[in-house]
Amino acid sequence: MSKESLSPNEVKEMVIAIADKIIASEELLSEADRRLGDGDHGLGMQRGFTAAKAQVEALEPATVGQVFSTTGITLMSTMGGASGAVMGMLYQNGGTALGDADTFDSACLSTFTTAALEGVTNLGGAKRGDKTMVDALATAQEAAVASAGKPLPEAIADVAAGAVAGMEATKEMIATMGRAKTLGEKSIGHPDPGAVSVSIMFTTASEYVNQ
Ligand code: ADP
Ligand code: MG
Repeated sequence: MSKESLSPNEVKEMVIAIADKIIASEELLSEADRRLGDGDHGLGMQRGFTAAKAQVEALEPATVGQVFSTTGITLMSTMGGASGAVMGMLYQNGGTALGDADTFDSACLSTFTTAALEGVTNLGGAKRGDKTMVDALATAQEAAVASAGKPLPEAIADVAAGAVAGMEATKEMIATMGRAKTLGEKSIGHPDPGAVSVSIMFTTASEYVNQ
């Protein structure tokens, strides 16, 4: 049965499902980073989401935002690197923007992704087309805004499709930020590892809502 909206405890379950999927994707994410960077993205994500899962499991959340904010703060303090700060900010700013909402619906999805994108771009300075996770997050956010009036299962499926399309588009881009910058045109043909992470996160969220 798909879910029309999520309670704080269901958001907790969803974030744990995301953590499990990211932890299980360590090799895929490390391989993506071996092609463009230093090969540590999978390990950083695995470390961050192992810690975040433990923190979230211990929560008895009263609001939906609390689950996301706890995840973000834990990622920031455990992942390290450029991606730890931006990945943490995605969850922390997204969660804070939800205020004291105790239900997560498609309007919350739009609010979350908009604040997440704003937080990540303000902190990291990457723009669309720079071949970073911003490319997957921005297409996810566009889909979320366009689908804010739909039932949550449809809206989150649109957002997942948007994130995957944004990740796929990074294959054709030349990196201009971070470690992949030194590769120039050699970065063409490979997806950005952070964008792969973002596409996995939203795809898992959609699977949770639509299961
Ligand atoms: P590091 O680059 O420190 O080795 P990771 O390998 O864990 O960190 O993560 C690399 C990913 O971080 C990139 O694929 C990219 O998506 C993301 N990233 C790096 N810098 C930025 C930035 N300024 N803004 C947004 N995302 C960024
Ligand atoms: Mg790396």
